[in-house]
Amino acid sequence: MAIDAKQFHCPNCYADLKFDPAVQRFTCEYCRSSFSEAEVTDFMRRYMEQEQQYSDLEEGQLPPEPEMSEEERRDRESFNEETQLYSCPSCGAEIISDGNTAAAFCYYCHNPVILKGRVDGRYRPSMVLPFEFDKDMAVQHFHSWAKSKWFIPKDLISAAQIDKLTGLYVPFWVARSSTSSRMEAIGENRRSWTSGNYRYTETKRYRVVREATINYEGVPADGSQKIDDLLMESIEPFDYTRARPFNMAYLSGFYADKYDVEKEQVFPRIKQRMFTNNGTMLDSTTNYMALTARRQLDRIDTLSWDYMMLPVWFMTFDYKGKLWEYAVNGQSGKAAGELPVSKGKLAAFCILIASLIILAVFLGGYFLT
Ligand SMILES: [Zn+2]
Ligand SMILES: [Zn+2]
Repeated sequence: MAIDAKQFHCPNCYADLKFDPAVQRFTCEYCRSSFSEAEVTDFMRRYMEQEQQYSDLEEGQLPPEPEMSEEERRDRESFNEETQLYSCPSCGAEIISDGNTAAAFCYYCHNPVILKGRVDGRYRPSMVLPFEFDKDMAVQHFHSWAKSKWFIPKDLISAAQIDKLTGLYVPFWVARSSTSSRMEAIGENRRSWTSGNYRYTETKRYRVVREATINYEGVPADGSQKIDDLLMESIEPFDYTRARPFNMAYLSGFYADKYDVEKEQVFPRIKQRMFTNNGTMLDSTTNYMALTARRQLDRIDTLSWDYMMLPVWFMTFDYKGKLWEYAVNGQSGKAAGELPVSKGKLAAFCILIASLIILAVFLGGYFLT
């Protein structure tokens, strides 16, 4: 293993080492230790071995899928037989409906849609969060939300417009994962005082190590390019504990969108979300004024996916040549959208709630001084 001298870290505190020609040793400016080349090389070997223990899947590379069961194969076949795919010649949206619910207009641009055929079985969701209220109730939720806004164009709440409110199952990738993270840093505590004409500052430095296994029960990422990501995040959270195995009956009377973003594409985002959260959790177990020379190693131990349909009452509104999107969470009734007169308002509604159920097992940390 080739180790670049520039990357030598202090075995005591992880700070960068400098070579001192006068004594022919590597010295640490922080903790004032010095080491022979053999000592440093040995430490660096262990340091890098640790990194390999946490070597992670490459970006976008996923663990192999489990073999498809006979039951799953049959489910996919019947999904293919019982669904119809419509497509919109104007905006390209694709709509899935069950055989009994004919789609007449596009939920997105309101133009007539055409029947395209069957839906490939691989688009069969594994889970579904059923709608918990009907269209009348959705209209009420929408009205009470819109009423609280400063200005609503009349046509926005006209009967004709409300008629376009569509019960839409939006495709989501939901990851379940067990992850491991290790955080190493120098924890610093400082105190200052004045005595006579002198001002003293005392800095104490500690070596900090934290390791944890953290499990995630559901990290969501929207699988549809068409629907605004921010809009979907602003009507979160959804209660995933109420998800049920998918059944065709849930589609009856509703439309469904089909994913056009593969899980490989959302994986880096989901991974980032989990590891960032791990780092925050590990740091929160320490109690220093500052953490410096910090390094974090992360690993995904297990990963599995649900392709889940989430219930959304969706409506678009054409105003001055722009399409405005509105959505009501079909489970909680939470509404969101952008109004023509107040740009950027969506951001105010966008409170990112990471719907993460977390189980953390902390293995100790230790100090060096
Ligand atoms: Zn040191
Ligand atoms: Zn369309």
